[in-house]
Order: sequence, then structure tokens, then C-alpha cells
Amino acid sequence: RFISLEGGEGTGKSTQVKALASALETKGYKVNVTREPGGTPGAEVIRDLLLSGADEKWHMRTEALLFAAARAEHCAKLIRPALDRGEWVISDRFIDSSRAYQTGGDQLTDREIMALHEVGSGALMPDRTFVLDLPEAVAAKRAEARDRGDSDRIGGRDSAYHRSVMQRFRQFAADEPDRIRLIDASQAVEPITELLLQNLGDMMA
Ligand code: C5P
Repeated sequence: RFISLEGGEGTGKSTQVKALASALETKGYKVNVTREPGGTPGAEVIRDLLLSGADEKWHMRTEALLFAAARAEHCAKLIRPALDRGEWVISDRFIDSSRAYQTGGDQLTDREIMALHEVGSGALMPDRTFVLDLPEAVAAKRAEARDRGDSDRIGGRDSAYHRSVMQRFRQFAADEPDRIRLIDASQAVEPITELLLQNLGDMMA
């Protein structure tokens, strides 16, 4: 099974990825934890390029192509082989991050992002995706509270941009309710993990 976790920064994604993985391991499943952009040595090099590699800001199309290239490596070398072995994969971000972050304004369209995903990764989709959703003020406070090198190194983004990213995530969940589940991330860590497990019940039978 292939699970992705999505959401803005400060929503507790990486905490939940780890908590969910150990909960599934306790149940006897083999779980591979990974993240995007990155997850394999080559894809991590592309991550470095995206976050800090250029003296000038990447053109938005180059940026979208780099995300798609990193994902192609990730799918070919880590995700598909693990799924072929019958194991679980939990990824901290996947295609829906590109659909949320690399679209909007004068960026790419959702169709263009999906076309890149088709070419790069054969349009591999997660079996289930969780969007961790927090009121903006809470998310901003959490993001502020931790000194995060990565955050917003990609092209001087502002709070209006992050609001529109979250709106897109919420719309994806509304459009694809079977795959994408919106999770209230303002609760404590354990009840959120419990909620994720409940939402995977149909896959653990
Ligand atoms: O929160 P996380 O560490 O996963 O995100 C790293 C950064 O990469 C975030 O600032 C996010 O805005 C950005 N990102 C992006 N497009 C993606 C995935 C992540 O702009 N497809």
C-alpha cells in the first residue's frame, strides 16, 4: 500500500509519518518511510538544487520539471520496488504537493502537472492521501516556533500563497473523497495517528 501525507508546513506531517509507520509496523507490516522532494540519493541531489542550488530563482517551469524529475527517481528506485515486494510506503509529500504548490497564479495548470507526472512516473498515485489541515494562524505559529532552513527558500512565498495552497489541498479532498482524506491537525499527536489508522481500516483487512 502507498500512503502520502500532505499539508502546509507546521501541520505535523513528519511527526505523523513516523507515528503512523510505527503503528503499522506494530501490526506486522513492513513499512518504508520516505519524503519528497528526495527519498533516493539522486532525488536528494535534486532536492538540494530546488532548495538552494541556484544563484537566481528557478523559473517556475524548471522548478516543476525538477520536482517531477525527483519524483521519477523516487518512484522508479524506491516506491515501485517496495510496492512490488508487497511492502507499505509512506511518503511525506507526493504528487498532490506539486498540484498544490506548482499551480495557481501564472504557474502551471493541474493538467500540465499531471502530464509531467505521467511522463516521469507513469502517473503512479497513492492508494490513500491524508491532508493535515490546520487553521492558518496555528500553522504559522508552529512554523515560526521551529527554525526551519527549508521553509520558503523556494521563491519568496507569502502568506496569501500559502493560503491558496491550502485551499487547493482542501479542494482535492472534496474532488477525490475516496483517496484523499482531510484530517483536523489541531488535535494532539496520538488521536491524529488513531484517526489515520481508522482511515486505513479498509486497506488492512
Ligand atoms: O514542509 P516540507 O519540509 O515538506 O516542505 C519543504 C518545502 O518545499 C516547503 O517550503 C514547500 O513549500 C516546498 N514544496 C514545494 N513543492 C512541492 C513540495 C514541497 O514547493 N511539490
